[in-house]
Amino acid sequence: MKKLIDKIEDYQKLKCMHPLTCGQRDKHPNYRGILYGKIENGNIILKCPNCNYVQHSIPEIIFEDNPVIEGLEWLQEKYTDKEINIMRYGKTR
Ligand SMILES: [Zn+2]
Repeated sequence: MKKLIDKIEDYQKLKCMHPLTCGQRDKHPNYRGILYGKIENGNIILKCPNCNYVQHSIPEIIFEDNPVIEGLEWLQEKYTDKEINIMRYGKTR
């Protein structure tokens, strides 16, 4: 369980992916409401640190070994191949 929480945290920090954010962001416009993972009654949930918003469904991509590569399709719309290689390998090949 703890490992899955860590995966959520890692994913939320990825610069090239859009983090999962609070569904009630209009209630706190000055804060993005990046959700964090929490174990509640034996289930993993996503919670907003700024309000009581809770998201029970967590996209599977977060638990993939490499969500960056899984999200490549999305990346290719925004970045060049060269930029994607830098993100994946820290350098161009
Ligand atoms: Zn919120």
